[in-house]
Amino acid sequence: MAKKTINPFEMAQDQFDQAADILELDEGMRDLLRYPLREYNFSIPVRNDDGEVRIFRGFRVQHNDARGACKGGIRFHPLVSIDQSRALAMWMTWKCAVVDIPLGGAMGGVVCDPHTISVRGLEQICRGWVRQLAADIGPLSDIPEPDIMTTPQYMLWMLDEYEAIRGGKFPGFITGKPVGMGGSLGRIEATGFGLVYMLREALRQIDRKPSEMTAAVQGFGSVARHAIRLFNQIGGTVTCVSCWNQNDHTAYSFKKTDGLDLDTLLSITDDFGEIDKTKAVDIGCEILPDEAWLEQEVDILIPAALEHQITEENVSCIHNRVRIIAEGANGPITPSADKIIAGKDILVIPDFIANAGGVICSYFETVQSNNNHYWQKDEVLGKLDVKMTSAFLDVNDMAHNHNLSLRDAAHLIGISRVAQACRDRGWA
Ligand code: NAD
Repeated sequence: MAKKTINPFEMAQDQFDQAADILELDEGMRDLLRYPLREYNFSIPVRNDDGEVRIFRGFRVQHNDARGACKGGIRFHPLVSIDQSRALAMWMTWKCAVVDIPLGGAMGGVVCDPHTISVRGLEQICRGWVRQLAADIGPLSDIPEPDIMTTPQYMLWMLDEYEAIRGGKFPGFITGKPVGMGGSLGRIEATGFGLVYMLREALRQIDRKPSEMTAAVQGFGSVARHAIRLFNQIGGTVTCVSCWNQNDHTAYSFKKTDGLDLDTLLSITDDFGEIDKTKAVDIGCEILPDEAWLEQEVDILIPAALEHQITEENVSCIHNRVRIIAEGANGPITPSADKIIAGKDILVIPDFIANAGGVICSYFETVQSNNNHYWQKDEVLGKLDVKMTSAFLDVNDMAHNHNLSLRDAAHLIGISRVAQACRDRGWA
């Protein structure tokens, strides 16, 4: 089904406007928070093995740093755009505030398809991205981290370039580094596990046991697979996942009614989260079209791929058995689809709390890197569980007390904390 094109930044601004009305923010504060504080838009030249130069477009947007240094991902994807980075930076500002970590919001990326670029080319893009920004990012101002199609190795190349430019060791410059090279144990699991910590709390609220729950997941990357791992560990069953197929330029859904075995599926998946279709048939999966994951008769949907995947056009495909949607991706439900879902008996755990595990653990990584002292994995995941649970309970209380959705409640908490920090600093 054709999807309407949505500008993610306009979507983020609309969401902000609604919260600003409820919070009765004055014009100056709205003007400050509706736009990024700073943005960088640049070109990265890369010479390939034949001596040809290819230019890649790069971005960094710093939305707000009133509560602390900016923090946000670096995405390598053909559809990266400045408006997408603006939206993701704004959402990151609210996300850090609602889970109460002392950081602001940023986002950036490079327009490219890593599948089609050599390892040497990718290293040059990473180093080029840092060279363009080295004066404007750093451990005390803007701390990048991985996002779609960027890996711990890329973060290490970026750190190495930053340290070469600045002269010295700055392990707190970037997070998502490999473990043993300044990375935090638990970072790889953090976003997916964090989502399931919140899902567990949400199930408690509606008096349901994880062992009775089935789920369908969009995406089979870092977030999706760790969410599936912990969901399985607490007793849940995942019957359908979907992922992108590079050769066919479309996505497919992979279904097994009695439950997909995560490790078997991982053994036929590449580094970019793409499942081999032929091997999937061999292990007994049904291969279904792109959006089939959304139509499954399950209790929980976990969109963990890209933004605006659940839209006005396809929202009616959601099965009436679904009780919870936990947003692993950023902005996977459009505002118009969100309004339709609000009329159903479905609890939406919104992105900027559901997927905040990554940034919370990144914050833990910064703390560990800056102190040059690293924690055990159980310690990291234990602290993560405490933060995620307490953020969920704060948001849930606000939602109940003021008859709001979790999304509106989370927005109000996040935006009011950022607005207060701006007021305290005398910015607006
Ligand atoms: P990833 O690159 O590891 O995996 C992305 C997955 O999505 C892959 O399996 C890919 O095949 C699949 N995919 C891509 N396009 C698709 C489509 N049209 N339909 C179905 N599947 C598709 O990325 P990730 O790190 O797992 O991130 C997923 C989402 O979660 C993104 O929106 C990202 O911004 C968000 N997020 C990630 C983190 C993190 O820590 N990694 C933290 C917060 C939010």
